[in-house]
Amino acid sequence: METIITKIDRKKPDMEVIQQAGKILASGGIVAFPTETVYGLGANALDPKAVEKIFKAKGRPSDNPLIVHISSQEALSALVSEIPPVAIPLMKHFWPGPLTLIFPKSSIIPKEITGGLSTVGIRYPVHPIAQKVIQAAQVPIAAPSANLSGKPSPTKAEHVIHDLKGKVDMIIDGGCSAIGLESTVLDITGEIPMILRPGGITQDMIEAVVGPILLDPALESRREVSQATVPKAPGMKYKHYAPKAQVEVIVGEVLAVTQRIQQLIKEDKSHRKIGVMATDQTQSQYEGENVFVLSVGDRKQPETIASHLFDVLRQFDEEDIDVIYAEGVPEVQVGMAIMNRLVKAAGYNILYV
Ligand code: AMP
Ligand code: MG
Repeated sequence: METIITKIDRKKPDMEVIQQAGKILASGGIVAFPTETVYGLGANALDPKAVEKIFKAKGRPSDNPLIVHISSQEALSALVSEIPPVAIPLMKHFWPGPLTLIFPKSSIIPKEITGGLSTVGIRYPVHPIAQKVIQAAQVPIAAPSANLSGKPSPTKAEHVIHDLKGKVDMIIDGGCSAIGLESTVLDITGEIPMILRPGGITQDMIEAVVGPILLDPALESRREVSQATVPKAPGMKYKHYAPKAQVEVIVGEVLAVTQRIQQLIKEDKSHRKIGVMATDQTQSQYEGENVFVLSVGDRKQPETIASHLFDVLRQFDEEDIDVIYAEGVPEVQVGMAIMNRLVKAAGYNILYV
C-alpha cells in the first residue's frame, strides 16, 4: 500500500491535509496523526472493517481494546450507556487532555473495539491536529499508539514511518508529542475510580479533584506481585515498549545506581555493545570502549524524562546496542508512569541496589 506522508504545522495546520485525512477515515482507511501523548493510528470506531485494519497493521492482539477519541464532550453520550457522576468533575478538569475514562459502552460500539468487554475507553485529546482530524472525519476515532505492537510507542513521525510505512493510508507529521507517554487510563465504572494505566495525569492530580482513588494492584513493578495479578486493562499484560536490546533497570539511590552501572560496565568481558540510559545529572559519569551513553532527561524535571523515554529506547536500536543499563527514577508523580513503561521494556528485569 502506498502511504501518503505529509508534514504540517501544529499551530496553523493546512486544512486541505486535514480534510484529506478526514475523508480517508470516513471512508474506512487508517491514518496516523500526532496527539499530545504519542502518535495515534486512527480508524472510524463505528466501522468494524476499518478497526480490523488497525489490528492488522500493528500486529495487535485482538483482545486488547482500543480507546475511542472524540473532539467534543457532546460526542460522548452516544458512545456510552451511562455517565457515572464522578465523570463530570473529571471531564471538567482534564478534558481535553491525556486522561482516558472507562465507561459502560452503548450498543453502537462494535465488539472489535472493546475486545468483547462491556466497557469502552474514551479520550478527548487536546492536540490541535488530533482534534481537527477527528472533527474532519465526523465520526469517533479509535486510535491506539501508531507503532508495531510490542515496540516503543512513537513520539515522532519518523518512528511511525519506521514501523508503519506501507501499512497505513496516511501519516501526518506534526512534530514531537509533548508528553511522550500514553494517556492515564481511569476506570470509573466501579464504586471508587481505579487507575488501570499510569500516565501524565497523576494519581495526586486526580485525587485533588475527586478524592481518594485506587490503583490496579497489577501495576506494582515488582515481578512477583505484578505477575500474580491479572491487570484490568487487557493491554497491560502484553510485552511492551521493548527495543531490540535486552534492558536492565537499576533501581535505588542515584549514587548507588551510577556506581553499580559503572561496575557492570567494568566487569563486562563479553564485548557486547553496552548502552547506558543516563540522566542529565549522571551522563558524564560513564565511559568505556563499547559504551554508548544517552541522557533521557533531567531528574529535577521528570516530565522531560517522560517525553524522551521512547525516543531514547529507539535510538539505542539505531546503534545496534546489545544491552541497555537504564537508571530507574523514583516512582512518584509522573515517575510512576515512566517506571511502568521502563520495567515493561525490561521484561521486569530489575536490579535493586
Ligand atoms: P493503546 O491503545 O496502545 O494506548 O492501549 C490502550 C490501553 O487501554 C490498553 O492497555 C487497553 O487494554 C486499555 N483499555 C482500552 N479500553 C479498555 C477497557 N474498556 N477496559 C479496560 N482497559 C481498556
Ligand atoms: Mg500502545
